[in-house]
Amino acid sequence: MIEDFITLTDRYIASTYTRYPIALVRGEGCMVWDSEGKRYYDFVSGLAVNNLGHSHPRIVEAIRGQVGELIHVSNLYHILPQIELARILVENSFADKVFFCNSGAEANEAAIKLTRRYYSDQGKSDRYEIITMLNSFHGRTIATITATGQEKFQKGFGPLLPGFRYVPFNDLSGVEATLTKNTCAVMVEPIQGEGGVNLPVEGYLKGLRDICDAHNLLLIFDEVQTGIGRTGELFAYENYGVIPDIMTLAKSLGGGVPIGAMLAKEDIMKSFTPGTHATTFGGNPLACTAGIATLKVIIEEGILSNCKKVGSYFIERLIGLKERYPFIRDIRGKGLIIGLELDFPGKETTIACMERGFLINCTMENVLRFLPPLIIGEREIDQLIDTLDEIFRAI
Ligand SMILES: *Cc1c(COP(=O)(O)O)cnc(C)c1O
Repeated sequence: MIEDFITLTDRYIASTYTRYPIALVRGEGCMVWDSEGKRYYDFVSGLAVNNLGHSHPRIVEAIRGQVGELIHVSNLYHILPQIELARILVENSFADKVFFCNSGAEANEAAIKLTRRYYSDQGKSDRYEIITMLNSFHGRTIATITATGQEKFQKGFGPLLPGFRYVPFNDLSGVEATLTKNTCAVMVEPIQGEGGVNLPVEGYLKGLRDICDAHNLLLIFDEVQTGIGRTGELFAYENYGVIPDIMTLAKSLGGGVPIGAMLAKEDIMKSFTPGTHATTFGGNPLACTAGIATLKVIIEEGILSNCKKVGSYFIERLIGLKERYPFIRDIRGKGLIIGLELDFPGKETTIACMERGFLINCTMENVLRFLPPLIIGEREIDQLIDTLDEIFRAI
C-alpha cells in the first residue's frame, strides 16, 4: 500500500525529489491511476513527455514490435530506426543532421561541445563564451547547470564550467551589452518552461537572430520542453519565424522512452567528426522506434491543430477565472504549455487539485504550470476549470 511505498522510497532512493504521496501505476490517454485505484486527469504528462497521452496504441504497438526484433546495438553499426527518425526530424525542421543522445541535459551538452568545436575548427578557440538567460533551465549536468541562469540549481556544485554569461529573458540590449570578444553563441528556450512559462515578447527571438548574425554567433534553441508539438507547431521556433543554428530536443521525442537529440545545419554539424563525441545508448533502436511512432502520429493525426484549438480554449477559460479572482496575477501560454501565476505559493492548490483527481505542476513557487497531453479535449479542460474554481472560491 502507499504507506509502504513511501517508506521504501525513503529507504532505497536518493531523495533528490520531494514526491507527492501517491504512486502512479497505470495510464491511458489523458488519465492515470494510482496504486490505490484512484483516477487522475494528467495535466503534467511526465513533465511534457507524454504528448500523446499514456499507452497510445500506435506507440505501444511500435515498441512491442521492436522489443522482439532488436533492443540495442552499438553505433559502431548502422541502425535502421535511427536513420528513419533522423530523416523525419530533418524533413520537418531547418536542420540537416541529427546527433542522438538520451536526455535534454545531454542534448544541451552536445550543443555546447559542438559550438566550441565549431569555432575551434576555425582557429578561434578563444570564442567559447555562451550567453544564456536568467530563469532559464538547461539541465542538471555541470555544464548545463552552469548554462542554467538560476543560482538554486548551481549552489554547492562549484567550481562551475567557465564560459557562460547571463542576461534577463526578453532583454535584447542586455545581450548586446554582454557580448565580448570571446562570445560564440546565444542559447535560449523560445518559451521558458521551468522558469515559469515565460513567453518571448514580440520581436525578441528575431532580435536575437539579428544580434547573432551581426556578430557571427550561433543561435541555439533549447526546445527540450517546447518541441514535438507542445506549442501547436512541431517546433516552437515555427511560431516566431526565426530559424536557429542548433536545436535540442528530448522530453516528448520518444513518447515516454528516454531519448534526446541535437539538430544542426551541416556546415556546423560537420565539426563533429568520428571520435569527437559519442554516447553508448544514443539513437538506440528501441528509443528511435518510439520516436518514429510519436512523430508520425503527431504529423498524421491532426494533433497540432487540436493542440492549438484546445490550448486557446484553455487560456480563454483561465482568463475567465482571472477576472473573478484578483489573486491570479497572470495567465500566459502557447498551445498547451500554459502558466497561471498566483500572488501566493501554489503548492496547496496543486495538492488540492491532486486530491480532487487532477495532476498539475507548480514551478517558481507561484506559477501553476499545465502541460496536458496534446490529445486532450475541451471537456477535460472544463472539468479542471470547475475544480480550480471550487478551490479558489474557498481561498
Ligand atoms: C527538462 C529540460 C531540460 C533537461 O532535460 P533532462 O532530460 O531532464 O536532462 C533541458 N532544457 C529544458 C528547456 C527542459 O525543460
